[in-house]
Amino acid sequence: MTNSHQESARWREGSECDSSSSPPNRRHFLKQFAAASAGTYLAGLASSTSTNLLRAAEPTQFPRAQIAITLDLEMARNFPRWEDTHWDYEKGNLNEPAKRYTVDACRRVKSKGGRIHTFVVGRVFEQENVDWLKEVAAEGHPIGNHTYDHVNMVATAKDQIQYRFKRAPWLIAEQNIADILRENVRLANFAIQERLGVSANGFRTPGGFATGLLGREDVQQMLMELGFSWISCRYPSHPGVSDLQGRPERPQQAAFDGILASMPDAQPFRYESGLWEIPMSPISDIGAFRNGRWQLEYFLEAIQLSFNWAVEHRGVFDFLAHPSCLGVMDPQMKAIDLICNLVEQSSGKAELVTLDTIATRSAELAATTGASQPPEANR
Ligand SMILES: [Zn+2]
Repeated sequence: MTNSHQESARWREGSECDSSSSPPNRRHFLKQFAAASAGTYLAGLASSTSTNLLRAAEPTQFPRAQIAITLDLEMARNFPRWEDTHWDYEKGNLNEPAKRYTVDACRRVKSKGGRIHTFVVGRVFEQENVDWLKEVAAEGHPIGNHTYDHVNMVATAKDQIQYRFKRAPWLIAEQNIADILRENVRLANFAIQERLGVSANGFRTPGGFATGLLGREDVQQMLMELGFSWISCRYPSHPGVSDLQGRPERPQQAAFDGILASMPDAQPFRYESGLWEIPMSPISDIGAFRNGRWQLEYFLEAIQLSFNWAVEHRGVFDFLAHPSCLGVMDPQMKAIDLICNLVEQSSGKAELVTLDTIATRSAELAATTGASQPPEANR
């Protein structure tokens, strides 16, 4: 894999993505937060990755920890075999194991009283048979929009949009970047409605961004115009993960410390535009199994840490995985079982919820408690 490939792959899977590879300079970061300071902050959202200056003084808490299990339905490079890279060009061409894992995981979580929030790439709907996903939707698991081609929503050049369009640039030659992105989101909405008979429930950006969509009011506005009141876009950076290359050793402690330290940054907040952000919580399956090439037991250890943080702070743990990756690394669904069991054993201190519920409750909390605690640095 060349460096340029690694770079351009960074934003792809909602997580491996972290913008920590190219952190915005501090002045730019503060400016972005100043722009958002009129927004609502919950549970100490706004700590920067490199400084503690930006943290709400009095975090707002939920009555109990909000635990979400989310699955992004797309194929992922390096899985099932490390040398697999062609998925970059056919993100939506889900294979049978990924579909089966999705259905089985949804059944399992529902049997525990929860639902899985899925985010699907629109090209999935070009497949002949989508009965498996119809079942998932009919069982009450929300189906969110993950764009049609898994495009980079903050692209500033056409060759940053997606591998498919880099190889076949004529597909987008006539349009400007904003129109290409808008159309890609709109088509996925349309495909979900057409083939499943339901409306898209929320939007998740392909890749995640350490500062979310701060500074991209144009994209926020576009998503609101396309019908979304909340998105899941922020994936806080969490330093300390190094590539173990599959060695069966424990990741260094700094990796776990980094994950735990990122949890306050993974809490819901409202952009100044009014759009709500429900961040993904580190560490994702891609982060652990591709970037770190960890053994499963350490991924489970990280889940336990994040869960404990959410209970202790009555915050959100938004677990993110991909059936195309997790299904390979965790065929017995130990991660999903662990989360369900932890909720069950929490004596009511945690509950399984979907992201739309978290968004609704965040807005209600903000309205009733006046939770608009701007970060100290902006007062
Ligand atoms: Zn994705």
